[in-house]
Amino acid sequence: MPSQGLSPILAAMATYTCEKCGMSVNMTCAKCNAELVNDAISKDDGSKVGISKCPNDHGKIKSPLCCGQDMSCPI
Ligand SMILES: [Zn+2]
Ligand SMILES: [Zn+2]
Repeated sequence: MPSQGLSPILAAMATYTCEKCGMSVNMTCAKCNAELVNDAISKDDGSKVGISKCPNDHGKIKSPLCCGQDMSCPI
């Protein structure tokens, strides 16, 4: 929960890290170069899927895969 007046965008910058090999990626929007922000969407069955989205609404993508599993975002 942001409680120090930080903007949600800065507080939730999407840096994904692979728990197996330690590789991390910073995701940026190909259209505006903004750093994608971490978010989650709820599926019909109630489970949540982590996604990254452009703060300028250029779209959203699912979390990247590495070593055969979803990379995790610590935020
Ligand atoms: Zn990996
Ligand atoms: Zn964008």
